Amino acid sequence: MKVKEALRGVATNLAIDAVEEAPLEAELLLMHVLGLDRAGLYVALEDDLSPERRVTLSEMVDRRLRREPLAYITGRREFFGLDFYVGPEVLIPRPETELLVEEVIAFVERNFPCGDPVIADIGTGSGAIAVSLAVSLPRARGYAVDISARALEIAQVNCLRHNVGVELLEGDILSQLPEAMDVIVANLPYVRDGDMDGLCEEIREHEPRVALSGGKDGLDVVRRLIAGAPERLRPGGLVLLEVAPDQVQAIVEFASGIDSWRSVDSVADIGGVPRALRLILTKHCSEV
Ligand code: GLN
Repeated sequence: MKVKEALRGVATNLAIDAVEEAPLEAELLLMHVLGLDRAGLYVALEDDLSPERRVTLSEMVDRRLRREPLAYITGRREFFGLDFYVGPEVLIPRPETELLVEEVIAFVERNFPCGDPVIADIGTGSGAIAVSLAVSLPRARGYAVDISARALEIAQVNCLRHNVGVELLEGDILSQLPEAMDVIVANLPYVRDGDMDGLCEEIREHEPRVALSGGKDGLDVVRRLIAGAPERLRPGGLVLLEVAPDQVQAIVEFASGIDSWRSVDSVADIGGVPRALRLILTKHCSEV
C-alpha cells in the first residue's frame, strides 16, 4: 500500500466516524508514523508504507475511533508556533488560549520596555502558556504553578524542549508563589458542572477533569484567584484569565466589588468574541 492510499483510507475512516477535520487528522497521523513534516509527507506520497508502519497506523486509527484525542495519540500539539509534548495528565492546549499569550506580550512591551517582569502562569498544565511567554520574552522571569505533580513533569519536558528556565511550583493557585508578580496569567478550569456531561467525548472521557471543572457556575477557582491575586501582585500588575464568553459579566461584577482592581475589562479574540478577562491592580495605595 502506498502512503497516499493509506492517507486516503485513514481520512475516509475518520470521516465516516464523524471525526471533525478528518483529512487534517489523517495527515497528522501519517506524519507521525513516518516521522515527517507536512512537506516530507507530500514528497513521500508515492512511497510504499511498510507492514510495520501499517500496523502502527492502524492501532493509532483504532484509538482515535475510540475518541481518544489525536494530541494524546501522537503526544504533541502545536501552540503559539511551538511544538508541545502532551499526555492525558494535561489539558490539550487550545488555539483560543494563544490570546492570553498575545495579551501578556503586549502588556509587557507597553509597561516594561527595558525591564524584566516577573510572570506566573497558574494552572500551567503542559506549560504551553509559560513556555510560549518565556520564548517570546527572554528577559522576563517566569513561574509556572500546577496542583498536579504529573502535569508539572510534562511542563518540565516542554521547558527543556524549548530551553527556557521557568521555575515550576506544585501547589494550589497562588499559594506557592515566592515573590510578588507583575503578571499573573491563567487558563483555569471554568466549565460549569451542568455543562460537563455535554462536552464532546474526546474532552469528557479523556482530558483531566481537574483542568476543566469549575463548580456550579464554573467560576469557583476563577473567583479564588481574583480574590487572592491583589496580595500577590506588584502595583499596576496584571491578571489575565481565559473565560467562556457568557461568564464575562459575572466575573466583571465579582471583581468590581474588590477595591484593589483599578480596571476590569474583557479582551476579545479576532472574531470579536470576549475570551479573556483583564484586571489591573491599582498603582498606589492612595488610588484604593
Ligand atoms: N474551553 C475549554 C473547553 O473546551 C475549557 C477549558 C477550561 O476549563 N479551561 O473545553
